[in-house]
Amino acid sequence: MERPHPPAERPERSERRDEVIVVGGGQAGLVAGYYLRQAGIPARILDAEQQVGDAWRHRWDSLSVFTVARYSALPGLAFPGDPDHFPGKDEVADYLQRYAQDRQLAVRLDSRATSLRPADGGYRLDTNSGSYHARQVIVATGAYQRPYTPPIAAGLDTGVFQTHSAHYRNPGQIPASGSSAAPSLRTAAPSVSPTAARSARTPWCGPRAFVPTTRGSSCPVCSTSATARSTAVASPRTRACTSSA
Ligand SMILES: Cc1cc2nc3c(=O)[nH]c(=O)nc-3n(C[C@H](O)[C@H](O)[C@H](O)COP(=O)(O)OP(=O)(O)OC[C@H]3O[C@@H](n4cnc5c(N)ncnc54)[C@H](O)[C@@H]3O)c2cc1C
Repeated sequence: MERPHPPAERPERSERRDEVIVVGGGQAGLVAGYYLRQAGIPARILDAEQQVGDAWRHRWDSLSVFTVARYSALPGLAFPGDPDHFPGKDEVADYLQRYAQDRQLAVRLDSRATSLRPADGGYRLDTNSGSYHARQVIVATGAYQRPYTPPIAAGLDTGVFQTHSAHYRNPGQIPASGSSAAPSLRTAAPSVSPTAARSARTPWCGPRAFVPTTRGSSCPVCSTSATARSTAVASPRTRACTSSA
């Protein structure tokens, strides 16, 4: 016997009306939702991803934040674990997810905003999950949504392996080759960070990473000379650097 099909779930297409809509459910969007709630203002948070915290989950495996847990918490919920540990990126993601649940924030996932324009005394917001109207809209979509690759990359030989930090996950992605530099790059890759990239021009001690500096130069924070250290650690409390070399 043929079973009846369950009714197909159709995406809601009619426009929903809200007091405030927050676009983006990262740190900024969640905290905006938290304070609006404290003020008794109903707010709906929309996020493009499948889970709260996915912006962090998609980053490379070995990433940990450069601020210890005690300084990484959002208002109203302590960051779990040792207050002096440096949380990994998945810990941050899970914390954000828990934050949204604990604070009972209304986050609608899988809702990518595609356009926002003034309408009817407020704003009309179109997303891939339907259209909304809100009297106020807070855009909290973050600053790291579009990877930038400098034009010089297009001019490199096709044999040169290139990846953007937005797509890098772990050293396994770096192809093995006959080059003597490849093995050391594969080993060094986990400690490469945006901080290190910046420090190639402005030498200073990065958090838990050796930062290549010009020979003979010294860190402007702790004055340690580049030749004297192999691992530099920035203390989050004192903002001073200590050399473990
Ligand atoms: C590699 C890397 C490492 C970092 N390390 C640190 C660190 O150690 N310590 C630290 O303090 N900061 C760090 N940062 C910075 C930190 O991630 C940001 O400052 C922080 O995430 C900003 O929070 P946000 O809520 O503004 O944006 P995000 O966290 O980026 O959140 C934006 C949200 O908006 C959603 N979104 C985007 N576009 C749309 C759309 N069109 N429609 C709906 N939703 C949308 C995204 O899915 C995301 O959830 C790092 C950033 C990067 C890239």
